Amino acid sequence: MSNAHAQGRLPKIRIRPEVIDKNLCCGCGACVGVCPTGVLSIDLNKSHVPLIDESKCTGCDLCYDVCPGRGYPVAKWVGLQRDEATRMFVDRGPVRKYLMGHSLDPEIRLNSASGGIATSLMLHLLETGQVDDVVVIGMENDRPVARLTHDPQVVRESVGSKYGPVPMLETLIPELRKQPRRIAMTVTPCQLGGWRRAVERIPKLRKSSVLTIGLFCGQVQSYDSLISIAATLGIQYPGDAKFTDWRYGPYPGSARFEFPDGTAVEKPLYPWLDVAVPHFSLNRCFLCPDGGNWLADMTLGDIHSGGNDETVTVCRTRRAVDVLASAQDAGRIALQEMTTSQVEQCVIRHISRSKMLPAIARNAWLEKMGKPHPAFDYDGEALFPGRLKLMAIFWVWKYRLTFWCRGGWRRAFLLNHPRVMEKTGHFLYYFPATIPGWKLAIRLKHKITAFRKTITSFFKFKKA
Ligand SMILES: Cc1cc2nc3c(=O)[nH]c(=O)nc-3n(C[C@H](O)[C@H](O)[C@H](O)COP(=O)(O)OP(=O)(O)OC[C@H]3O[C@@H](n4cnc5c(N)ncnc54)[C@H](O)[C@@H]3O)c2cc1C
Ligand code: SF4
Ligand code: SF4
Ligand code: SF4
Repeated sequence: MSNAHAQGRLPKIRIRPEVIDKNLCCGCGACVGVCPTGVLSIDLNKSHVPLIDESKCTGCDLCYDVCPGRGYPVAKWVGLQRDEATRMFVDRGPVRKYLMGHSLDPEIRLNSASGGIATSLMLHLLETGQVDDVVVIGMENDRPVARLTHDPQVVRESVGSKYGPVPMLETLIPELRKQPRRIAMTVTPCQLGGWRRAVERIPKLRKSSVLTIGLFCGQVQSYDSLISIAATLGIQYPGDAKFTDWRYGPYPGSARFEFPDGTAVEKPLYPWLDVAVPHFSLNRCFLCPDGGNWLADMTLGDIHSGGNDETVTVCRTRRAVDVLASAQDAGRIALQEMTTSQVEQCVIRHISRSKMLPAIARNAWLEKMGKPHPAFDYDGEALFPGRLKLMAIFWVWKYRLTFWCRGGWRRAFLLNHPRVMEKTGHFLYYFPATIPGWKLAIRLKHKITAFRKTITSFFKFKKA
């Protein structure tokens, strides 16, 4: 605490002690975008967390009010925006249609994260005058930047997912306050949570019409993950090379580092996730149940099963169904309805088991322990009847093990030994499947269950 604070000369603001110091910030930029005195700023080269010049802060707490780092009421807000034609699934949120598809522009499809639906849809909306501007995330000096634009070239150049925190609301909120307009934006769930909180607090933001192209979201990592990913490739970063992309090239793509002479090295998605997720994902992401982006007009993700370049799209509102149909009619994108088995095997189903359940379980545990955590309004017991308590033990222990590896001397050791970091990352990322004998035990369990079923049906048949 500064001297001025101690002497009571500076106002008390809640965002620092309740969000930033508690490691709950996700770097959305909402606080920076709303601050009336401009005393907040984010420098992604240092950290995704806002810096505060408290000597000029008035203590209005607007930054705290709009902050999604402390959670937001998903169930309540979904209840307000649903209509009768939308079916509500306890684990998948509001659904009108499940679609999968891709861009009909081969260049966009190749360079996109999944099938290029997001980029092609935004180009179509601009071309047909359905929106004035779109918000996209491009790259500048190795870091993502938000751009509010109507230039098709900028939209094309911004294709692909950026898996680091992006403070897009620091740009968007002041722009739309100054000049309301019709926009479409790609958003992660927490960015959208921050936007919704800001709209509640600042009436002028309601004058803009916003189509939200939500992204399924597993996690983002702090930017020091790039140093370690590069180290596993034998490169010193920053220094030797520039970082250009998380998912360069054909699906699923690779992290790419480019040298000054134009040559490059790449690390395919799956090994780079091993390094990045367990060791560098934000604490807030481990506690985030909203990976399905229930508040968006639509949620886009990877098909995963079979690993091809298609975008899975959950249409959540009427507007989503309409704009996608108009882009398809205009020959921009190809779409088809998903079969039940495709829905069951892809991110739509996965995200509730791998993100929602763990986060709800961890938040419940943190609450019990009196520790800081984001507050959401999901009814955990209704979502996962009977499973929550049992699974909580597993998910809490995995979380604790992960953060134990990230602490103290273990951190320093792993940073100096990138290969060991990759191996521990792999172990933690796929845990418990990486416990020796685990896969064999699961296969045995399946065999015993199948054998039991055969015996039971044989005796039933004999009896009949
Ligand atoms: C941080 C993050 C985590 C994700 N996690 C998962 C996951 O776990 N499982 C899954 O199936 N899918 C996940 N996705 C979604 C997936 O990576 C694709 O973005 C989605 O399938 C759309 O693909 P596309 O080819 O249609 O998009 P593209 O045509 O490639 O366009 C992507 C658009 O997203 C915008 N964008 C990129 N990064 C960000 C960002 N950080 N914040 C806001 N907008 C951004 C770009 O400006 C671009 O316009 C994630 C995306 C992000 C950004
Ligand atoms: S309390 Fe008000 S003035 Fe201070 S940082 Fe937050 S928004 Fe800005
Ligand atoms: S508003 Fe966003 S950037 Fe600001 S503290 Fe909260 S989560 Fe972090
Ligand atoms: S996992 Fe949740 S908290 Fe993390 S970036 Fe995605 S939406 Fe935000």
